[in-house]
Amino acid sequence: MKIISINAGSSSLKFSLFNMDNETVIASGLFERIGIEGSNYVIKYNGEKVSEEIELNNHTDAVKILLDKLITLEIISSLDEIDGVGHRLVHGKDKYSKSVIINDEVVNDLEEFKEFAPLHNPANILGIKAFKDVLPEVPMVGVFDTAFHQTMEKEAYLYPVPYKWYSEYGVRKYGFHGTSHRFITQSVREILGRDNFNLISCHIGNGGSITAVKDMKCVDTTMGFTPLAGIMMGTRSGEIDSSLIPYIMEKEGKNASEIIDDLNKNSGLVGLSEYSSDMRDILVKCDEGDEKAIAAKNKYVRRIVDYIAQYYVLLGGADVIVFTAGVGENSIPIRREVCEKLAPLGVKIDLDQNSKRGEVTKISTEDSAIAVYVIPTDEELMIARDTLNLINR
Ligand code: AMP
Repeated sequence: MKIISINAGSSSLKFSLFNMDNETVIASGLFERIGIEGSNYVIKYNGEKVSEEIELNNHTDAVKILLDKLITLEIISSLDEIDGVGHRLVHGKDKYSKSVIINDEVVNDLEEFKEFAPLHNPANILGIKAFKDVLPEVPMVGVFDTAFHQTMEKEAYLYPVPYKWYSEYGVRKYGFHGTSHRFITQSVREILGRDNFNLISCHIGNGGSITAVKDMKCVDTTMGFTPLAGIMMGTRSGEIDSSLIPYIMEKEGKNASEIIDDLNKNSGLVGLSEYSSDMRDILVKCDEGDEKAIAAKNKYVRRIVDYIAQYYVLLGGADVIVFTAGVGENSIPIRREVCEKLAPLGVKIDLDQNSKRGEVTKISTEDSAIAVYVIPTDEELMIARDTLNLINR
């Protein structure tokens, strides 16, 4: 069985083609600058890489060329080999708690929910429509970023604001990165061989969120109404006091959406360091003794530790902490600093194990009170698994 996982952005389309018999990637790639001058694609397969600058007027063009290339590069011999298409969908509000077969209702809902994800939902619809145009007979599945977090109880997802904001306008915590946190949760189930455990899943990349999981279900997560909430990120502030918004509006003569833009794009690591949003650059500057980079890195670690501690109490203790995504999978010093600060919870890090990268690794010592793992996340595979499961039903 072959499944394509798709992540459609407003001018991009990322794909992975899986052979689901052994869950391996046959080909993957990216179509960029769709509808913009200089559009191009890169396809990787079998250790090879093919790229080309080519006119892509819309997402349908990109899908046509993708499928054409899969055949001409002999990655597949016929389109009939594609059994299903899984789409990463960002916002399913409180309606979608699971992945679904995509039908007109799902597309209408994505359209209706677009004010909750104005950049992502319309782009997701473009991806769906493009595949519907080119592969009308192939079933499609939607996998929502928000779905895994739908098990949160009211006291977790409500904000302490006028209730009408929730009941009439949908203001609540939705949470994001759900597909990654679910992949991590399922990986931990495989490692432990059971599904009753308390897990703190730390997805720390350019964006980042931490999720508390009890017996396979999300009980709380750090991202909120939007992905701006929670831990400090590469360019996003995470949690702040909202009263600073009108104060800075006045100081800088900006409107509210310009300030939100600053909080999304010019804050976090890049904001505090005034240098870079990339943790690798920050760590180099820290080694050089740069004070702003050190302050940025310390705040970043502090926020992660704060939320882990909060979720440890919420869960009534933790069996496993997982680090994943760009920083979580790769940054040895950040993992070490976080774990060392968790010593009051009985966490003990194994420095040799922590120096490994790129594979599932237990980085805590045998006598650590909480097992700490690095697990590379794989949202594309999770999407392909859901797609296979739903089309097989
Ligand atoms: P992601 O959003 O999951 O792709 O993560 C991207 C981020 O991971 C980058 O912005 C980097 O900050 C971080 N990253 C990747 N590799 C490393 C590394 N070796 N050390 C520290 N940070 C890394």
